[in-house]
Amino acid sequence: MTMALRSRLPSVGTTIFTVMSKLAADIGAINLSQGFPDFDCDPALIDAVVKHMRAGVNQYAPMPGVPALRQAIAAKYGRTHGASYDPETEVTITSGGTEAIFDAVASVVHPGDEVIVLEPCYDSYVPAIQLNGGLPVIVPLQFPDYGIDWVAVGAAITPRTRLLMLNSPHNPTGSIVTAADIAALTAMVRRHDIYIVSDEVYEHIIFDGAAHESMSRHPELAARSFVVGSFGKTFHVTGWKVGYVVAPAALTAELRKVHQYVTFSTMTPVQHGIADLLSDEKGLNELPSFFQRKRDLFLQLMEGSRFTPLPCRGSYFQLMDYSAISDLADAEFAIWLTREHGVASIPTSPFLYKTGAPQVVRFCFAKKDETLERAAERLRRV
Ligand code: PMP
Repeated sequence: MTMALRSRLPSVGTTIFTVMSKLAADIGAINLSQGFPDFDCDPALIDAVVKHMRAGVNQYAPMPGVPALRQAIAAKYGRTHGASYDPETEVTITSGGTEAIFDAVASVVHPGDEVIVLEPCYDSYVPAIQLNGGLPVIVPLQFPDYGIDWVAVGAAITPRTRLLMLNSPHNPTGSIVTAADIAALTAMVRRHDIYIVSDEVYEHIIFDGAAHESMSRHPELAARSFVVGSFGKTFHVTGWKVGYVVAPAALTAELRKVHQYVTFSTMTPVQHGIADLLSDEKGLNELPSFFQRKRDLFLQLMEGSRFTPLPCRGSYFQLMDYSAISDLADAEFAIWLTREHGVASIPTSPFLYKTGAPQVVRFCFAKKDETLERAAERLRRV
């Protein structure tokens, strides 16, 4: 006898990142689709990890993470944001930001709870909410700046609202949370008792002198926030999948109950290697100017093309309006662009649940200058 297989995620298929990267590989297109660098990390990081591997640090790490790394993270939040997190009870290392987000959602969302999601949103949020029995309540960001409409967020809150998902700098739009957003959010949490998952994986990729408004900077917000980071983004090693969560002890205690049964712990020598480099402020402080130069180079190279850039204040993604080129819907346009012009991008429709997709596609500029030059040369001919 066979049992009918009833999907827990019936509307989820292969993600657009897999589809576009495969298409790019199959036809040899320049891949500006998936968000990862095509340049390597600091060789000192590899040396540090290898040193720990050779020293025999190859067995399970402690469940919450290697103490040296938790201490380095707590020190960084103290230095950068004036925040005080206890490495023993308030910092947890996870297998990437993705696990961090899942664990945070799972630790507070009960079946039937509502979770406010601002769209477009990173594609793991809604499935994480649904797998935990939560109900995503979608509130659109405001095109074309993708600012947060706090009146709409306020109107979406009900007695069942448990959690708000935030992401700054934002994937796929490059928008950032501002001081005005912090004021609006603070006023909101004084009226409504909700938790916040703040996805800050692009914390160091922020431009034009803007400050990263981490939830950890604002004690009233930090008290109810899971702040998520990813060393994949910070150290150009997305394939290592090492992330973390900082959150008050009571929230961390619940988060660790989940983490302990999702992965238990994260790769040990990599945690030690990252801890060795994390105390070096220099590398981190150079990240905004490093990526701002790439954004500006890409924008300059795209001048004279029929694409129109949207504002990009952070992250390593640049949205481009293609309405002067084509009437195609965004996913078809992205596939056409890859096939006909050999440059892969990502449409925003897979990040949208409620709003129709505008005629924009996302390009990742975390690429070597020569890759950006070759891609822009092709894109200028479109
Ligand atoms: N959040 C956002 C907004 C992201 O863009 C990503 C990575 N693409 C993640 C979370 C996941 O990070 P990680 O690769 O460390 O799992």
